[in-house]
Amino acid sequence: MTGRRDPRGGSASSPALDDDRLLNDERYAVTRPLQWMQSSASSVILAAYLAVAVPTHGWIPFLLVGVAALTSPLSLLLGKPISENVYAVGQTVWMGSLGVAAAMTGGADSFLLPLCVAYALIFFSLLSPGKAVRFSVVGFLLCVLPIIVLDWEGLLRSPWLLLSCCVGFITIVLVARAMAVGEIAQRSQATIDPLTGLLNRRSLSDRVAQLTEQARVMGDGTSLALVTGDIDHFKQVNDTHGHQRGDDVLRDVAYLIRKTVRRFELVYRMGGEEFLVLLPGHDLAEAGRVAERIRAAVEHGQPGGVDVTISLGVVEFGVDRSDLHSLLARADAALYTAKREGRNRVVLASDVTPPAVLP
Ligand code: GH3
Ligand code: MG
Ligand code: MG
Repeated sequence: MTGRRDPRGGSASSPALDDDRLLNDERYAVTRPLQWMQSSASSVILAAYLAVAVPTHGWIPFLLVGVAALTSPLSLLLGKPISENVYAVGQTVWMGSLGVAAAMTGGADSFLLPLCVAYALIFFSLLSPGKAVRFSVVGFLLCVLPIIVLDWEGLLRSPWLLLSCCVGFITIVLVARAMAVGEIAQRSQATIDPLTGLLNRRSLSDRVAQLTEQARVMGDGTSLALVTGDIDHFKQVNDTHGHQRGDDVLRDVAYLIRKTVRRFELVYRMGGEEFLVLLPGHDLAEAGRVAERIRAAVEHGQPGGVDVTISLGVVEFGVDRSDLHSLLARADAALYTAKREGRNRVVLASDVTPPAVLP
């Protein structure tokens, strides 16, 4: 089992570690209240500018672009946060309207041309890297094509403004793309445990905060549970088989846990031989069953070619999810009860007297 694993914790037969999705959750800016307010403000500024431009450039830019821009914050205000795909398609259509408005207000000389570049770039910055280049290029082309089709004579006469916009757009996208790739690599290093490819402890509180905010914004009472696991007598594994083999055991246990849980359920290495699984949508009993599957997988999986077992504690988040500190203390109390009772077992936090938590 050991040799098949990739350093990120996935393998040919396991769900790949979806760290891009995790990291990029933070880029789903449109679903977050602060960014929502800022993007709404930018829509209002654009609409106001186009309203002021009506006496000079007519109603078309305002109706095609300004009114459409206002629908974006309105739809967010009225409904649930939209997904990235819906946002991307909506914005692409909107950029097409911007192109038509540009074609009808001067074409190659339109006052809207710089805005085409600006909005294609905003689009680029809001989407996750997998989609950013594709959708922003399509958006920019949708802006430019109506001008080429509807005002090709004007374009031949004076192509320079449009050409400058194209060159500016391409160079900024290339530079921004390189920076985004570097930033993601850096963030991966800060959040991924290099031995197992799992998320590290540091990224846990961020994720819990995200899930808390998501539950608040969505207004639902979705349950959320957490499983902590600690390999039994791991020191003996190191003492008997050597540190290298101990590392193999850790990698294989990480792999077995990832294989047991679903793709979107996040697994963390909390340090040493301790692991944690976040289970959104699980209550205590369901999480207990997941923990039991993990326990059985480790017991029968011979991680690193060694017979090892794992003890697990399970806890469910209460209404106040922000108190990660007391939650981890309850999970640890359950885990240590499992150790005390003989190891290789699962204990639910409801069966354990809550420990006193330091402020
Ligand atoms: P228990 O059943 O009570 O959990 O006993 P244990 O031996 O597993 O617990 P203990 O905390 O005494 O030992 C944990 C050991 O894990 C000690 C440490 O050397 C080892 N360890 C921590 N991190 C690593 C690592 O990255 N690689 C290896 N090979 N060993 C590690
Ligand atoms: Mg330990
Ligand atoms: Mg241990």
